[in-house]
Amino acid sequence: MTLIIDCHGHYTTAPAAHNDWREAQKAAFKAGEAPPAYPAISDDEIRETLEANQIRLLKERGADMTIFSPRASAMAPHVGDESVSRAWAIANNDLIKRCADLYPDIFAPVCMLPQSPAADMQGSIDELQRCVDMGFIGCNLNPDPGGGRFSSPPLTDRFWYPFYEKMVELDVPAMIHVSGSCNPGLHATGAYYIAADTIAFMQLIEGDLFKDFPTLRFIIPHGGGAVPYHWGRYRGLADMLKKPDLAGHVMNNVFFDTCVYHQPGVNLLADVIENKNILFGSEMVGAVRGIDPTTGHYFDDTKRYVDALDISEEARAAIFEGNARRVFPRLDALLKGRGL
Ligand SMILES: [Zn+2]
Repeated sequence: MTLIIDCHGHYTTAPAAHNDWREAQKAAFKAGEAPPAYPAISDDEIRETLEANQIRLLKERGADMTIFSPRASAMAPHVGDESVSRAWAIANNDLIKRCADLYPDIFAPVCMLPQSPAADMQGSIDELQRCVDMGFIGCNLNPDPGGGRFSSPPLTDRFWYPFYEKMVELDVPAMIHVSGSCNPGLHATGAYYIAADTIAFMQLIEGDLFKDFPTLRFIIPHGGGAVPYHWGRYRGLADMLKKPDLAGHVMNNVFFDTCVYHQPGVNLLADVIENKNILFGSEMVGAVRGIDPTTGHYFDDTKRYVDALDISEEARAAIFEGNARRVFPRLDALLKGRGL
């Protein structure tokens, strides 16, 4: 039987004390004071927030497990300085570790990074190592820690290389994922996320990153932003830029999830993008939480759309399970260790 692995879940329902601490941390930074101690949060509090939300929906929708990371919109690396980001990343990643320890069959942990606009990637390298040592299987890499200013070097720039070297050494992929927007013209989940996904893909076309890192793997979430819909534009641009065909130039290393939220969009994704490059994901509980009045089902119940795709059962199994195991070798090892 195929395992249904959701590659894109966030702890958007973390206990209030965790979020309160963040507010206190930010206030302390502003006042030039030390942040208060991180609060005690009981296992029961964590269980309650997960069982009423992610686990309930996961079971209702028939998925088996979620690759689980801290709430993306709250990463906010533009807030404070690197030490603020570091303490916040550690608090979040430790909390994700506790979720995975409480429900090891359901949650596979992925970390956020202590990025900060003026910081190099050393702090992120250290945190990635710390998290992988704790059993994490991947990370979320923010291509725009400025929070909507797009002032960071492109993902193909050598600025990022030390971090990629660590990713390759640890054999973990990164989901390219921005955080909250501090640009009033960019709605976070409606504009900023989708723009950043699209921008990241174009950066990868313009560069030659995977020549330097042939085993580096990125997941571009939210269905790859605008990319699949504009696939002809990107293939044509690669041609104009004298780049090789995208199949070898980018698509051995880049994967899209299924967080598109309607059937025609997922149909297009599966039609345009090779099924080996698609990972089932829902970003649940996340960006769009309502019910689609035209179907009567939750917009983010994306398993339903994948189930309805006119593809072979082999391709469907790859989208639900096989591709995730290939992109996240540490997940594959974990599952094999459980006889799966
Ligand atoms: Zn997300």
